[in-house]
Amino acid sequence: PAGMRGDHALIIPFTTSGHFIPLLDLTRHLVLRGLTVTVVATSDTLPLLSPLISDHPSSIKALVLPLCLEATSGWNDLTSCTRTAIRDLGTLHGPIRDWIAGHHSPPSVIISDMFAGWAHRLAQEVGIKSILFSPSGAMALSVIFSLWRDMPRPPPADKEDTAFAFPEIPNQPEYPWWQLSGLFRAHREGDPVSEFIKEAFLANSQSWGVVVNSFNELEGAYIDHLMKMVGHGRVWAVGPLLPVEPIVSSGQRGGISSILVEDLVSWLDSCGDRTVLYVCFGSQARLAEEQTAALASALEKSEVNFVWVVREDQPTKVALESFEDRVAGRGLVIRGWAPQLPILNHPAVGAFLTHCGWNSIMEALVAGVPMLAWPMGADQFVNATLIADQLKVARRVSEGASAIPDSDKLARAIREFIDWEDCPERVRADVMRRAAADTMGHGGSSSENFDKMVKHAHV
Ligand code: UDP
Repeated sequence: PAGMRGDHALIIPFTTSGHFIPLLDLTRHLVLRGLTVTVVATSDTLPLLSPLISDHPSSIKALVLPLCLEATSGWNDLTSCTRTAIRDLGTLHGPIRDWIAGHHSPPSVIISDMFAGWAHRLAQEVGIKSILFSPSGAMALSVIFSLWRDMPRPPPADKEDTAFAFPEIPNQPEYPWWQLSGLFRAHREGDPVSEFIKEAFLANSQSWGVVVNSFNELEGAYIDHLMKMVGHGRVWAVGPLLPVEPIVSSGQRGGISSILVEDLVSWLDSCGDRTVLYVCFGSQARLAEEQTAALASALEKSEVNFVWVVREDQPTKVALESFEDRVAGRGLVIRGWAPQLPILNHPAVGAFLTHCGWNSIMEALVAGVPMLAWPMGADQFVNATLIADQLKVARRVSEGASAIPDSDKLARAIREFIDWEDCPERVRADVMRRAAADTMGHGGSSSENFDKMVKHAHV
């Protein structure tokens, strides 16, 4: 192993699934390289961490701190919930500093989630290194760094579609204001939560190191760009980081799955190869009733097989009334948490209708499944640029958290995607699948970057 026994890293995760899941895999990799890892947990996240601790009881510890999260889900105002959760997590600064000060073998490095940027100052206070963990890809992180550095102002009301360009970033992406990060758009000068978040994001770009859930073969140009932006080479792409086995099957967070994994798998087994569309919009998004109705109608008209994950707290009464009877035999609606990774890796699954969350994209690439893209918020518009316009492993079908897709058009897009065995997106997704497998293997770039990171963090 590249690390030395006894090296100790402290991990500070953000609590939502999309942030927590990849950090668990990062933890696992660090332990496999000989490190001891303490992971900050709350009563909410401890159940996710516990299986990993049971597997590595002497190398992983939980530092459970009381944290009263006012709200981490809530589909009506995700941005304000996220702002509150970021601020709440910041209250751990003092308790963590005290813990480090009193520890007999304190950590030599803090690895903190993008939403815990205050941790870099904490690391300075106690004289240790800090590494930013980005659950977003390198392209999205480049956009985020630029936004908080340049602080562009919103356009006037009559010019809302004005594009904001990022000329320094490779391929010069541009987005209308409404597609920029919601956290950034919610910034109000002088407001304490806003200023706290801004300071934390600026601290992220000044961290000692940066680790990204991506890989060089996927986002090499953006990783190079990040190195230029931060002014040093300690930017490590170590992905794909994936859900570790226990989370896959335990049905945590977002509600217990309404279907047993074995039943789901045997249903998929009964479907032909690549005949099933998997539909899931991650852990945070909630569709409104009209959107659910439009999607249901598209799935019905498409006549393809599908597995559709519907969050439990989403309004569906009218939209899904008798829907499941009408599609019985060829369509499965899962209420609650779905075992996404096994679904994507099942040979019956031929395409993925996704909100373009970064973890979902990584998981689809690992499985070689082409995507239909419906970006809704956060970094998802940037991610859609990468997968649909640049890598061309996805096709765009809808855009925006409140969009109501045209069900005829969507049905046609779904149908064509599933029916066309050699569609170019599928062929390219298969190339990415092989690259993703190689990068984590012996001598692969992500595997080597992991070794480098561990070695650097030790010196
Ligand atoms: N996920 C899952 N089952 C679900 C919904 C989500 O396993 O029903 C997992 C998914 O595999 C991914 C994560 O939750 O690892 C969602 O992260 P992503 O970045 O795709 O989206 P977010 O939830 O952050 O919007």
